Amino acid sequence: MSDPIVIVGASQAGLQVAESLRAEGYDGPLTMVGDETHPPYQRPPLSKALLTGESSEDRLILRGPDLLARRNIALVTGVRVDAIDRAARRLRLSDGRSLAYRGLALTTGGRARALPIPGAALPGVVTLRTIEDSRRIAAGIAQAASVAVVGGGFIGLEIAAAARKAGKPVVVFEALDRLLARSSAPFVSDFFLALHASSGVDVRLGTQVTALAGDDRVTGVTTTDGRTFPADLVVVGVGIIPNSELAQEAGIACDRGIVVDDCSRTSDPAVVAAGDCTARRMPDGALLRLESVQNAIEQGKSAAAALLDRARPFVAAPWFWSDQYDVRLQMAGLSAGHDRIVVRGAPETRKFSVFYFRADRLIAVDSINRAPDHIAARKLLDAGRSPSFAQAGDEAFGLAGLLK
Ligand SMILES: Cc1cc2nc3c(=O)[nH]c(=O)nc-3n(C[C@H](O)[C@H](O)[C@H](O)COP(=O)(O)OP(=O)(O)OC[C@H]3O[C@@H](n4cnc5c(N)ncnc54)[C@H](O)[C@@H]3O)c2cc1C
Repeated sequence: MSDPIVIVGASQAGLQVAESLRAEGYDGPLTMVGDETHPPYQRPPLSKALLTGESSEDRLILRGPDLLARRNIALVTGVRVDAIDRAARRLRLSDGRSLAYRGLALTTGGRARALPIPGAALPGVVTLRTIEDSRRIAAGIAQAASVAVVGGGFIGLEIAAAARKAGKPVVVFEALDRLLARSSAPFVSDFFLALHASSGVDVRLGTQVTALAGDDRVTGVTTTDGRTFPADLVVVGVGIIPNSELAQEAGIACDRGIVVDDCSRTSDPAVVAAGDCTARRMPDGALLRLESVQNAIEQGKSAAAALLDRARPFVAAPWFWSDQYDVRLQMAGLSAGHDRIVVRGAPETRKFSVFYFRADRLIAVDSINRAPDHIAARKLLDAGRSPSFAQAGDEAFGLAGLLK
């Protein structure tokens, strides 16, 4: 029998590569190796419905072992790929075995960044990436007298919302001067600041955490101004580190992620990569790192095609979402580099969209509880169509009309 195509990492991107290979007509051997003990599962609910108790762990599973077996996809769980021998096209596995491959997909994702400060390893200090982390945080929230969240990004804010829903006092520490600073305009940051403040969260902007206090478990958070805030659960949400070491040690080009082109090809023609572990080279030469379900799926499709020597570039506009309390934020496009914004709808109703323009062209839209705007925005961006600034802000103007 010929050597299999092997996928390293059994999650969102890895599953997509496997299923797209089958959809593209590949009927040869196919093996997915993941170091977690679960079949592929979705992570977004880990900081949302699973934490608030509105969902359950079994509903996270994307595909169970039976379904994968029916598609003739061999799933190996609880095993790490420790090294790639590219010359011999063999992988060294943590259980002592070695595995030959004819083509290789790296979908190793990322891991939560830890805080490089004293006390970061104390019990009661947690990050969120896996089912086990989410379980730990849910139990921690239930028992906590007060919760501290370090990082005012999406994951931190979703956890803050879940802890408030459980009735716990919550303080969020953000080093920058606004929330969601990496992804949104100040207008959107201000909206989320007001949302959390009105829900009872104590948001500390421009506040760096310098140490976590406690002897045998965490008891508080110390900030640059020398104050210590009491907390018996500290959740750190300060971003991820892409798992690119496996590729790097094998001599595959990496630069803050495994460098891929728009077809998910790496510097080795036999190796593709997809999802959070990648940094995509854009037409202007810049590297783009996206951490989203859509990116994992689209790059996974491209990677499968590339393994079969087909080019399927990922060109769709990026999109993402976040749920906090009764607010759903949906983002389309990338707002970095915008020169003006216009708001459609009324923020006080918690239903509005922010349209981002650069040189009179639409580049991104953030929608709050306005799914139809989000859908229209994705279609407009994918089609390269732009409303005028005035049209975007005019609720009487139908955006869908631009797509006819
Ligand atoms: C709490 C949370 C909330 C999120 N919310 C959203 C959201 O609302 N919307 C959105 O679009 N995205 C969200 N994301 C991001 C989204 O989940 C990720 O972008 C997506 O999971 C990326 O998929 P992936 O397969 O690339 O990586 P991962 O899901 O990280 O999977 C990689 C897998 O590879 C395994 N692995 C790594 N190295 C090895 C090795 N050497 N050998 C074997 N296995 C290995 C890892 O353990 C892991 O199981 C969220 C993420 C988290 C953590």
